[in-house]
Amino acid sequence: MTVLPPGAATPLASAEQILERLFKPTGVPGVHIRSGAYEDIVEALGRFITRLRPEGAEVYRAPPVVSRALIEKAGYLKSFPHLLGCVCALSGGEAQIEAAVDRFASGAGRWTDDVEATDLLLAPAACYPIYPIAAELGTTPPQGFVFDIAGDCFRREPSQDIDRLQSFRMREFVAVGGPEAIQAFRESWIARAPDIAGALGLPHRIEAASDPFFGRIGQMIGRFQVAQSLKFELLIPVRSAQSPTACMSFNYHRDQFGLTWDIRTSDGEAAHTACVAFGLDRLAVALFATHGVEARQWPEAVRRALGL
Ligand code: ATP
Ligand code: ZN
Ligand code: MG
Repeated sequence: MTVLPPGAATPLASAEQILERLFKPTGVPGVHIRSGAYEDIVEALGRFITRLRPEGAEVYRAPPVVSRALIEKAGYLKSFPHLLGCVCALSGGEAQIEAAVDRFASGAGRWTDDVEATDLLLAPAACYPIYPIAAELGTTPPQGFVFDIAGDCFRREPSQDIDRLQSFRMREFVAVGGPEAIQAFRESWIARAPDIAGALGLPHRIEAASDPFFGRIGQMIGRFQVAQSLKFELLIPVRSAQSPTACMSFNYHRDQFGLTWDIRTSDGEAAHTACVAFGLDRLAVALFATHGVEARQWPEAVRRALGL
């Protein structure tokens, strides 16, 4: 595992400078309007990641919403109910909707008292829509199926920290197949990650991690996850060198999604799955934190790697 180079690890630009130079506030923590200068880097990162795309990957792009049924089936409510955002809407007849609007307009109360949950959620991660798509493809080939998926994600974790957003972009490479192929897929990405961060001039280290599971039982699941090495993260100093930020994650779900969606390998066993997630907004913010708020002044090698 790579160690953060001493001295190189202190971010050049502060959170305040990044907020001031690259975002406009919305008044909601963790939700910013992004400037053109920032989006240029997110787009360059997207092209950079496309050049890393595994050969033969099927490419999909997801809308910011997912079907509620999909996330319920995936078991997300057992693990992260506290992070979910549900799309709600005014329903009922004209009279009922009008009453809600009037209540707001007259200042008598909240229009939102009348909303009802719809069949949509805000996507909490990019990879969920992939598993039913993989299931439709039938038995997995020896090398597995590989996908490239991206989308806007939402997590209800409001924070003033520059690296913890409620609304952010995620890109993932997802593999579905036999356990050996899937473990090899994830291992190869963990092995490649230092070069990827290195090409972007980002100090980094890789660590075993756990997901932010809900509740006390969730903490136990988290410890199990670390003990079983199911999740690794690539950490980059964004706010400080002492508490670096997870900008990529490498997740092994074993046969959880294979069983849920009845995805089978050629020997009839439930398929295993893994995903490599690039936090696009976190990587962009890490680049600005590391190299400064003016992308024109970034090291030439970094600009070249990003095609700037
Ligand atoms: P963290 O450890 O910071 O809570 P996580 O372990 O929940 O993140 P994953 O579920 O692995 O993150 O999500 C994949 C990637 O998406 C992360 O590595 C990170 O780059 C990005 N990401 C996750 N949550 C956020 C967030 N709130 N704001 C911005 N990016 C995020
Ligand atoms: Zn994933
Ligand atoms: Mg984490």
